[in-house]
Amino acid sequence: MANNENTAVIDNQNEDSWSDIDESLLVQCDDNENSDPSVINKETSHLKDPLKVEEEETPLEQFCKHGYLCVTDLTQQVWCEQHLCYTMMGMEPPLPSPLDQVPPPLPTADRPEVKAGKSVHLARELEVHNVVSVKISSRADKWGLHTLNLLSTIRGFLSGIRVAREVPIFGDPFGTGDLFFGIVDELRFDADSYSLGLVELKTRKTQRMPGKAQKKQHSLQVLIYKQLWDNLVRGNFSTDFFLKKLNLTASADQPLSEGVLQHIDSSGVPASSLRQLLTQLTTSVQALVCISSVEIEYVLQETGSVIGRTSVREDFDWLWRMFGHCMDFWHGRRGVEGVAIEEAWKCGGCEFSPVCEWRMKKSRVLSAQNRCSDKEL
Ligand code: SF4
Repeated sequence: MANNENTAVIDNQNEDSWSDIDESLLVQCDDNENSDPSVINKETSHLKDPLKVEEEETPLEQFCKHGYLCVTDLTQQVWCEQHLCYTMMGMEPPLPSPLDQVPPPLPTADRPEVKAGKSVHLARELEVHNVVSVKISSRADKWGLHTLNLLSTIRGFLSGIRVAREVPIFGDPFGTGDLFFGIVDELRFDADSYSLGLVELKTRKTQRMPGKAQKKQHSLQVLIYKQLWDNLVRGNFSTDFFLKKLNLTASADQPLSEGVLQHIDSSGVPASSLRQLLTQLTTSVQALVCISSVEIEYVLQETGSVIGRTSVREDFDWLWRMFGHCMDFWHGRRGVEGVAIEEAWKCGGCEFSPVCEWRMKKSRVLSAQNRCSDKEL
């Protein structure tokens, strides 16, 4: 989007809010990475199994009644699926005990580093466009604004703009019938070479570059963004599927609300309904190209200075495997999984640690294994 152009901001942008949460998790876990994975024992047998709720529903049906998943749902899932489940269930972390020597970790969204990360993102966004608040009255309005913001980016690139930030993206990344929504931090268009690059911004509290676990999350995130964008450019986006998944087929041709229409008008887009916006989007994007480079930029929260950059190589087989494993959970084809035993260091920074079913289960398995080894000796 151009300098001084406007982009609409919509409340409840879950995708954006979670953009840097993995950073927060890591900050609290760094010190635990080398700890002994067998030390995961706490007495929690009084707890019921939270995942026995409404067993007949798949997690997708249970938690995503709005019809779509955010890309960051998958990245949180890759960090720890059990943690994501507890969060989606609205489970409260246990109250601190007076005997605790250190305060328990804060809920992830409340951590200062997450809030600091959001400020850096907003500052970056304001460098390239103004953010205006638009009142919405319906879900069609909300998706109309997402569509308009994406369409404005495309029109901007086609009229000489080189950088767009906080760009919404949506679609079915692998044609599996699953709708995803995401917000790309930055797209850079080079009109001379006619190429497009994607840059994801990650803020960090320390100068250190991320470890393997975080890199995996970040790679998954940006490669799904790329997949969504490339699908749009290739014409692999079905408006009917999109509207059906969001249960907006009936309202897609209705005029959007007054405030939204005024914003559309001020953007110079001749449209008054969600379907008209989607038609313009799918037509305009054909004039652009697929993303040819994907990069993650790590910046220090305190100063905003760049710590380092990583190029992400496209690896379709890896992406498909990761995506498939995640979706097996959402569609109820397998049960919930917590962290692997070699990643038990993550549990040290987790607010659900004292009540985590997965930890208890792993602890019991480890204890049984240790008893067997003792007998063999
Ligand atoms: S304690 Fe460990 S396994 Fe359990 S939710 Fe937290 S990070 Fe996941």
